[in-house]
Amino acid sequence: MTTLGCALFATRWLQAPLYFGLVAAQGVYVYKFFNELWHLIHHVISGHADETHVMLAVLKLVDVVMIANLLIMVIVGGYETFVSRIGLQGHRDQPEWLSHVNSNVLKVKLATAIVGISSVHLLQMFVDVHHTPRHDLLWGTVIHMAFIASAAILAYMSGPMAAHEAKAHALHETRHAEPRTVTIPAQRDGGAAHHDEAPEAGSGAEERIEAAGFPARKVLETFDDGHLRAPDPQVIARLGKADFVARKANVVLLGGPGTGKTHLAVALGVRACQAGHQVLFATAAEWGTRLSDAKAAGRLRAELARLDAYPVLIVDEVGYVPFEPEVANLFFQLVSHRYERASLIVTGNRPLGRWDEVFGDSATASATVDRLAHHAEVVTLDADSYRTRRLEGAGVGGWVTR
Ligand code: ADP
Ligand code: MG
Repeated sequence: MTTLGCALFATRWLQAPLYFGLVAAQGVYVYKFFNELWHLIHHVISGHADETHVMLAVLKLVDVVMIANLLIMVIVGGYETFVSRIGLQGHRDQPEWLSHVNSNVLKVKLATAIVGISSVHLLQMFVDVHHTPRHDLLWGTVIHMAFIASAAILAYMSGPMAAHEAKAHALHETRHAEPRTVTIPAQRDGGAAHHDEAPEAGSGAEERIEAAGFPARKVLETFDDGHLRAPDPQVIARLGKADFVARKANVVLLGGPGTGKTHLAVALGVRACQAGHQVLFATAAEWGTRLSDAKAAGRLRAELARLDAYPVLIVDEVGYVPFEPEVANLFFQLVSHRYERASLIVTGNRPLGRWDEVFGDSATASATVDRLAHHAEVVTLDADSYRTRRLEGAGVGGWVTR
């Protein structure tokens, strides 16, 4: 950035006092609220309030609260978007809308909040219809309609804009964030042949698939479920709908070597990318290194919170190498952090009942398995190794294991 650019950019701080001004305005609303409330209570106690009066007074309170909500949205959202990051990621009270706030989202939120406020006003007018001039009623309704129309137009326009920004954001994440963490070798398994497929136009799926760090491009369409003795093809098809992501549920794929665990995990990840979710793939060992590094740097919490941006994390090959005690603990933290918050797809070569062999500690193992499997589709793949299937006839299949 040039010095001039830096200086210009720094002027954003001029806005900061405005937000504190809004905080003061918020204080005024708090005062107004309690003032109204006190009047209402006073009227009710002194027996002066009929039902319409109470309703009007309550509507006025609702109105004040809604304006206060709007203020918070502008204060927090505006400050975060236009001045400086507040860094609420991972905070227990982080508002759901803040994670995807940008100027477009903010505009739509404001427009809908204004529609809400104007509905309350209109309702107030109609409740008190005998004392409201016809002229006010008419214009109140027209203005309300105008607010609704403008909110609808803004919401409609923000769709394509938001998609564009999400795409830009995903690209930014991969370019700038990943090099700081463990680099996950891309296209390890000869999947490069599929690399040049035409990207799905404009949806951003291709960028998400690129960014996920899959070892190879594997898709559900090339998965031969006829090769499996179990599970039923229906189970695979159901998983392929990727609706476990919305439910924040996990998928645990278990089975011997070559039964297609990694293939399925990647294919489900690809489906999730196509459904609009960010996905990150790494082996259990790579996750271990990544989390150990974060812990050593004293930013494990921040790293776990950062990973919340990915609705799906894939942990491949749990159990091939037993965990070091520290890594076992980190893996437990990962699973428990994401519990009911976001999905994990985990593959492993041992039944869950034998994960104490991987964790080296049965308490950590059972606590992890408990959370992992609570909302999970646990699928055991029963098949001969797909890698050695052609050697079967040569009598090699029986003893070639990895
Ligand atoms: P695992 O992770 O269980 O050891 P992989 O998923 O890596 O096994 O599978 C090994 C190879 O066999 C991969 O190239 C994969 O694409 C292929 N494969 C495994 N199962 C199937 C299947 N049912 N249909 C098509 N390809 C399969
Ligand atoms: Mg594998």
